[in-house]
This record gives sequence, C-alpha cells and structure tokens, in this order.
Amino acid sequence: MQEYFAAIDIGATKTTASVSSRDGILARVYQPTRKRGDRGTVPRQVDFLIGFACRQAAIDKGQITAVGISTASPFEKRGERLVVVAPNICGGLAEKREASENDWTEIPLEEDLSGKYPRLRIANDCISAAVAERSFGAGRGEKDMLYVTWSTGIGGGAFVDGHLLTGKNDNALHLGHIVMNHNYEGEPQCGCGGYAHLEALVAGPAIARQYGEESREVFKRCREGEPKAEALIRKVAAVMALGLYNAVALLDTRLIILGGSVSKNWDLLEPLVGEEFYKCFPSLTREVVFRHSELDDYLGDMAGLSLVMPDSWIARWQAGKPWEQAPEITVLESDVG
Ligand SMILES: [Zn+2]
Repeated sequence: MQEYFAAIDIGATKTTASVSSRDGILARVYQPTRKRGDRGTVPRQVDFLIGFACRQAAIDKGQITAVGISTASPFEKRGERLVVVAPNICGGLAEKREASENDWTEIPLEEDLSGKYPRLRIANDCISAAVAERSFGAGRGEKDMLYVTWSTGIGGGAFVDGHLLTGKNDNALHLGHIVMNHNYEGEPQCGCGGYAHLEALVAGPAIARQYGEESREVFKRCREGEPKAEALIRKVAAVMALGLYNAVALLDTRLIILGGSVSKNWDLLEPLVGEEFYKCFPSLTREVVFRHSELDDYLGDMAGLSLVMPDSWIARWQAGKPWEQAPEITVLESDVG
C-alpha cells in the first residue's frame, strides 16, 4: 500500500503544509499563521492545510500515515501532551503586542491533532532541522553535531553520540537564551524577558537595533567596507563564537551547521566566528568544523517530514533529493479556510 506523509512548519509569519509519497513531494501550500480566534485556531489551521494539500495531491486525507510538525517553540507539557508556548505566536505571552494580536497563551497542538491522524510527531524547528540536516543535508553520517539557526532568533538542535537531545519538555537546546554576561547593566532585554541573552545580542533584530538599519543592509555595508558596519559584524561574530563555544563545551560537538537568514552571510561570518571560536580552549575546539546548512531553503518541507519519514525511504531520498524538484507552492490568503 502506498504511504503518504504530511509535513508542517509553523512559524511566526506563515504555516506551511506539504504531502509526500515515497517518490517525492506531491503538493505544498502556505498561509499566514492565524492570529485571531481561540486557542484551537492554529491546530484547526494545520488540519485545514493538510486537507488542502491532500486535495491538491489528489489523495484522501484518510490516507495520511503520519504527520511531522516543526514549530516555533518553546513547549510546556500538559499531561504528556506538548503545548506550544511561543511568544511570537501566543500573543498573550508577548510583552509587546505588535507581534501577535491574539490573547491565547498556549496552543494545545498535540491534544487537538493527535486523534485526527494515525501518528503525530512534533518538534521545535531547530530540533527538526537537526534531524533533517543529519538525514539529508550537511550533517549526513555525523554522530556529534549541532544545528544552529541564526535568524530573527537563535536556536539549536543537537545529536550527541548519535542520540537526538530533546529534554524534559522537548526544549533542548534553546541556545538563544543562554546568558552571555552576568552583569545585566546596559545589556539588552531578550524577547523572553531576560537580559544579555545570546539572541538579544546577535540575532537579526539585535544587529538592526545596534546599527539603526535592517540587518541585511548592515551586511551590505560591511561588504562595501563601511567601518561602523564592519565593527558591528565583527563584534556580533565574536559574541556568537562564544555562544557556540559554550555549546561545544557542554556537548563535545564535532560539527556545527549554521542556517537561517543571518547565516546567509556565512562567507563573511565564518572567518570572524572562527577567529574567536578557536581561541577558546583548544582541546575542546580544535577538531570542530563549521558548515553552512544544505537544506536551508527546503526546511519548510523537510524538517517536519524528517521527523516521521520511514527508514526505508531515506536512501532513496538521499540519492534523488526530490525536495529540489518539489512542486510550486500554493499561497493562500489569510481568510481562506
Ligand atoms: Zn531570552
């Protein structure tokens, strides 16, 4: 019997659904992540988008064997069920409400969806990206690897001795919220409320805040040799290097894979990050290698799918890379469904 799998990616701005068979991705759709309604709104949107993708793929929703969801996080657990408590999609948690106008403080994603599909696996977007990179991308065959997103936020997912780290509430590693300075005076406040967190120092919005222009513009000016932009990028790279060193000191990582919008400038950042990183305790850092993500542009489909893909498909997908030939994505307006 032919098996079909659905993959979901829930981000602050958009939610993507795709449906795949053993041969490749059959249909893809995205829609702005819903911001209004009750706390069941996002799970209903996920269910709707899976149904929409199934119709596009000309299969019945009842033929879906499993659903893999890669989502913004963190999580808490109610009973054994994961609930999403991400301030950027749970407006009731956010200190500033412009990000999300809703009042809900948690999304009961697992509770609301688990009865609808034979199998459901949920992970945060960095843990699922680590799984995808290790199966299909820059981390293939690596037992000790760390995936880090360097984007509007900072996050991580890691394998140690070939084991995926998850933790008590599936939140390992929220690398963006490690503390980089014990003296909070003058340090920026993080979106989580803490001070001197890595994310508040080096993520895209932090770069923009320190310069006064979008981070993309800062990188452009840095490439043009503008001294203020160069100095800022150098500083940000040095702080990120220390954050990555902290992770390596804890995990004894061999391979660090960087993904996310800021990491698109990896050609510029790698020498700067490396310069600081390898100054740290050489016995721990000497053998560490950095790579840029190979799946960066495909994680919307591949992160969730990697969580549930059967082992018997993996060699075929590694060889054929069908995600590169995925069909055009359908964009739905926010009021559809
Ligand atoms: Zn924080």
